[in-house]
Amino acid sequence: MVESRDYSMRQKIAYFSMEIGLSNDIHTYNGGLGILAGDVIRSSADLRIPLVGITLVSKKGHFRQEITSDGKQVEHPDPWEPSEFMQLLSTEVKVQIQKRDVTVKSWLYTVKSQTGGVVSVYFLDTDLEVNNPEDREITSFLYGGDERYRLKQEIVLGIGGVKILDSLGLNVRKYHMNEGHSSLLALELLQKNGMNTDKVRSLCVFTTHTPIDAGHDKFSYDLVREVLGEPVPLDMLKKLGGQERLNMTLLALNLSNYYNGVAKRHRDSARAMFPGYEICAITNGVHSYTWTCESFRNLYDKYFPGWTNEPDLLERADGILDEDVWRAHGEGKKVLIDHVNKITNVGLDYDTLTVGFARRATGYKRADLLFSDLEKLKRANRKGRIQLIFSGKAHPRDDSGRKLIEQIFGCTQELKGEIKIVYLANYDMDLSAKLVSGVDVWLNTPLRPLEASGTSGMKAAHNGVINFGVLDGW
Ligand SMILES: *Cc1c(COP(=O)(O)O)cnc(C)c1O
Repeated sequence: MVESRDYSMRQKIAYFSMEIGLSNDIHTYNGGLGILAGDVIRSSADLRIPLVGITLVSKKGHFRQEITSDGKQVEHPDPWEPSEFMQLLSTEVKVQIQKRDVTVKSWLYTVKSQTGGVVSVYFLDTDLEVNNPEDREITSFLYGGDERYRLKQEIVLGIGGVKILDSLGLNVRKYHMNEGHSSLLALELLQKNGMNTDKVRSLCVFTTHTPIDAGHDKFSYDLVREVLGEPVPLDMLKKLGGQERLNMTLLALNLSNYYNGVAKRHRDSARAMFPGYEICAITNGVHSYTWTCESFRNLYDKYFPGWTNEPDLLERADGILDEDVWRAHGEGKKVLIDHVNKITNVGLDYDTLTVGFARRATGYKRADLLFSDLEKLKRANRKGRIQLIFSGKAHPRDDSGRKLIEQIFGCTQELKGEIKIVYLANYDMDLSAKLVSGVDVWLNTPLRPLEASGTSGMKAAHNGVINFGVLDGW
């Protein structure tokens, strides 16, 4: 353990996120939200923005996906070992959960940019001997367990997070809530600031990420009273977070002085969901260097030296010679096809038009849309051969998402001998990087306007891959 006070008095922005995707081996992310958080952190390091990240250590990950031969998703724990990547800090704080003290410590990970910028990320951990066995599990599973488990996690993230930053001596000027999971931080700030809501608002910024109601955490006040207690008086909490249930999005909106959706269209749907709040729009982005494959990195190095720190230069991509793009694409495609052929026996071809679709398996993303008319698909394949690559996890409790995977498996069987189709298990950052640079066409067919932003298409564009999809999100 190391001495952990940060004596640098430079004011910081604290970026709170339930999930952060920093690398493939650090299993603290699930999907778009966490990847975005990772990209924000990498970009902040590039730009030398004085930002720190705060998240949960999620030692058992979200889950590792196995798909059986008949298309059923099986979930396994997905553990990782923090000590291989980061240091445990000695500073500890206590949060009250179910009227008892739970001790929280943090692991420090540093993201270093080639520009010399550095961002510290703190991973909160309750797996300490002083805590009882139940409390030690609070930071085990990302998005695991029931509502009570989730609320406990949000107490550790929001309240524990603010306390840890204080104990570390960080001088925080702004608290950014990436999604409502960390809204409880605002309650801790109320306590620190004599229940002054104006003061707390001046300290907080909030980003909402989805127009889907189920994506907004809501807790009954019975549960809140039992697990959280009353850090602020209940009547005040109801005014800020909703009369019926504690709505974490509403709480964040009422205690921030700036809030944004993640695309202009999403701003409009967010305003319709939460009338009366002047929600702004900041379109999501991706970290260019991270999501550009080797062959395109080399190409950009040749045409636009300095592009890694100044991705704006890629606006001139039109000036790259077609044959250079084609050659770089061929290399990316070979890497992907070789990978797929190594881990499956589908035997994809190098010179067949390859269509890719990878995202969370859930209804509105409509992975099955392409199969809505199998005869038409077969006819298209007779005109010009195609092969398809799918990937994506269903949330363990999303039965329709699990069915979707089975359904695609069914189509795979039905089209056997005509169209090669493969569903790759365990979509993660490494697989994503290979897919968005190795397919010819990146398919995106969400039900409008439910895709708030979507970022995988931006990754595809960085690799010269053609986007084909519904006009939704970014
Ligand atoms: C980029 C990425 C996402 C998000 O992609 P969307 O198009 O926004 O759905 C999800 N998961 C992984 C592993 C990613 O790399």
